[in-house]
Amino acid sequence: MIVVTKPDITDERIEEIVRYIEKAGVQPHVSKGTQRTVIGIIGKADPSLAEHLRSMRGVEDVIKISKSYKLASREFHPDDTVIEIKGVRIGGDELVVMGGPCAVESPDQIDEIARLVKAAGGQVLRGGAFKPRTGPYSFQGIGVEGLVMMAEAARKHGLLTVTEVMTPEYVEICAEYADILQVGARNMQNFDLLRKLGTIRKPVLLKRGFSATYDEFLNAAEYILAGGNPDVILCERGIRTFEPYTRNTLDLAAIPSLKTLSHLPIIADPSHGTGRRELVAPMAKAAVAAGADGLIIEMHTDPDNSMTGDGVQSLFPDQFAELMKELEKLAPLAGKRFDTPKAPAEAFREWKK
Ligand code: PEP
Ligand code: MN
Repeated sequence: MIVVTKPDITDERIEEIVRYIEKAGVQPHVSKGTQRTVIGIIGKADPSLAEHLRSMRGVEDVIKISKSYKLASREFHPDDTVIEIKGVRIGGDELVVMGGPCAVESPDQIDEIARLVKAAGGQVLRGGAFKPRTGPYSFQGIGVEGLVMMAEAARKHGLLTVTEVMTPEYVEICAEYADILQVGARNMQNFDLLRKLGTIRKPVLLKRGFSATYDEFLNAAEYILAGGNPDVILCERGIRTFEPYTRNTLDLAAIPSLKTLSHLPIIADPSHGTGRRELVAPMAKAAVAAGADGLIIEMHTDPDNSMTGDGVQSLFPDQFAELMKELEKLAPLAGKRFDTPKAPAEAFREWKK
């Protein structure tokens, strides 16, 4: 159940409602938006509570929500959430492309890739400084140094950054250097991490777990929202199925489904979603056609020697640039804008596949 308050409600009235809810033995969660304050109620309430709350001063409506997640639900927030970061709007009419290597490897590597992402038309530089590897002996990322290198490359080339954070202890330092913090598929239900991310003021890119249902995915988002951070971007990155040809099965239906269930922006990751370079462009385009607000794509200047095994799914820079040109044509058909710079061919010549 959600209490929607009138736009001009005072703090005293909100306090009164909160106290009433607490007295009824359920837990109020106050979420102050720019337009109005909404009080989500968690717990099993007596049916008479809704009636009483509806009659209280300052209350506009009381909405029953049967789903276990509330703040993430479309009922709670009928309009699409648009997250604005330094002029880039995620979830609105702009298509947002995040490109870059699986892992930050060196200052030169990340600087050159940042230059190419920008030249192709991308708005965000992706790259892992902390890598969640399946095996403990695999390369684990270069850590804080990688955050610094990435921030510097992005600043120089005029890009935002997105990077993965794996533990609550590293949230603050990652938030200091990156514009968007990524929660990897393996950590989608790391509840301590989600709770910590609820306390910061930086957007979170939440990837869907390998075997998470939409309900579980949105409940993971709910942890962050319930902590007070309203800026969550969902990411469909493929789920595990019986098909071994692709690394994962990119669930394209998740995009329109989650748009129906939630107001949060959703992007797709066709790189981890397929695990095969030649499938990245077709699935990127399919995701945009399905209504994705953006894409996160692996691109590497030397994929054969990438420090993680993800070179096989990384686009060569010229392939990335070619895809951006195709997206420029496709985006308007999906109600999005996406502009690429003119004639970036020279920028890509030396990096041809
Ligand atoms: C990544 O983006 O590099 C990554 C590890 O993704 P996922 O968590 O989706 O596997
Ligand atoms: Mn990767």
